[in-house]
Amino acid sequence: MACVANTKFRKVILDIDGVIWISGAPTEGAATLLDKLRRHGINFCFLTNDCTAPKAKRQQVLAQAGVLATDQIVTPADVTREWLKDTNAKAILYLGAPNTLADFTNKGLVRDEGPVDAVVIGDLFAHYDRYLLQRAATAVMEGATLVAMQRNAYWSDGIQQYVDNGFWVAGLEYVTASKALVMGKPGPLAYLCAMKLLDRMTSTDHSLTTFVSDDITTDLRGAKDIGLTTIYFGSQQNLPRWIDYSAKDIVDLGSILIGHAHD
Ligand SMILES: [Mg+2]
Repeated sequence: MACVANTKFRKVILDIDGVIWISGAPTEGAATLLDKLRRHGINFCFLTNDCTAPKAKRQQVLAQAGVLATDQIVTPADVTREWLKDTNAKAILYLGAPNTLADFTNKGLVRDEGPVDAVVIGDLFAHYDRYLLQRAATAVMEGATLVAMQRNAYWSDGIQQYVDNGFWVAGLEYVTASKALVMGKPGPLAYLCAMKLLDRMTSTDHSLTTFVSDDITTDLRGAKDIGLTTIYFGSQQNLPRWIDYSAKDIVDLGSILIGHAHD
């Protein structure tokens, strides 16, 4: 039977790593919770800052683990694709994982030489090239927009922290004396892209959408800044006062989103 426990939580955006996926495996109870959300008519999607792999790969791994339907993930590549379209970019330079390029643009937009409208920084760790970095810096200093698919200092798999793309973005900002436009969380475009997927933006009241994450300073802060309701997922105590709810595990999260009465 479909019933809605609490109209406050009709639309929910969830972070992936550290919430439904921890250290390479689904969080215990995640698949069950997602089934319950569906049964209770709660519209949800996922918003990740992962730009290391193509979305199809991530979808496949999650689906094999029984975690979700495949069309519910928003990645930094999706946000970048929308931005490139909206700004009518004609030429870009891309520094990142080659296998994620097809998720946001066609090869025709990528230029090996000549001026570009934007320099897009993705996951550069395994693809660093000094010549490309030099070209990127020069292009930005000549007027190209510096676009960061995400700018996190670290990412957490729910257990451990790893150095993230902000390493490259901050370096380019430093040498070009400019500030990157951030596509992923905490940039507002990321949440708006996920909200568009959820409800085609029929409502302008962002507090009707709830965002769940284990990351306070990047994910939840960005969500709060554009007016979303926030749920912290994790075991940290003494949370900032602006966080609306906190769930220590999947059962707790289910209780907040659905309530005990409808389990
Ligand atoms: Mg996370």
